[in-house]
Amino acid sequence: MTQVAVGLAAVRARIAEACRRAQRAPESVCLVAVSKRHSEQAIREAYALGQRDFGENYAQELASKARALSDLRDVRFHFIGNLQSNKVKILAPVCQVVQTLASEGAARALQERAQDLGRSLEIMLQVNVAGEAQKAGVAPAELATLVAAVRACSALSLMGLMTIPPADDDAAAEHCYRALAGLAKTYSLPALSMGMSDDLEIAIREGATHVRVGTAIFGART
Ligand SMILES: *Cc1c(COP(=O)(O)O)cnc(C)c1O
Repeated sequence: MTQVAVGLAAVRARIAEACRRAQRAPESVCLVAVSKRHSEQAIREAYALGQRDFGENYAQELASKARALSDLRDVRFHFIGNLQSNKVKILAPVCQVVQTLASEGAARALQERAQDLGRSLEIMLQVNVAGEAQKAGVAPAELATLVAAVRACSALSLMGLMTIPPADDDAAAEHCYRALAGLAKTYSLPALSMGMSDDLEIAIREGATHVRVGTAIFGART
């Protein structure tokens, strides 16, 4: 078996086991395979094994991969990188989900572009739960305003919340995920994107509906 086949099978088994322990249905967790800086061939390989949702961090890279993979009709790209308003023009035609919306300015830009294209985009709001200075995301205290703004955008379909936890600290990640789940409940948002290669079990226990896993599937990025 290839690296991707081995990695994907292992991650699927981890998700199934975490769901079993949490008494959740395995289909309630969507695996987003983070393919940034991995080849189109690696994506094709995962696709052939049934993987449909892929995460990318860079607008240009996502656009060129979407072009090269346009024969894979039902592939879904999630943008999970820092969202700059000047990249919206590139992103809006090529991704299905934007997980990292964090400002009203970016929401307006996305709305305008998606409307021009006659597309609807699924949206998650990135929340900086732990208030880390170096991290992107809306502060929990400002979430209400942003939720209302995005809900007013006809071409944006607000699905849920996303977060990146403090690095290398399982207790902090658990705390962060629990807080995010609480916020999602407050705003009646069904989707929770949290959990990566190292901590997807914790995230699933805390209610993740999307886990974003790169390294454990595709190996180290070059
Ligand atoms: C790169 C990235 C991931 C995947 O990280 P791995 O450690 O490779 O699993 C998940 N989420 C975000 C936002 C990322 O940028």
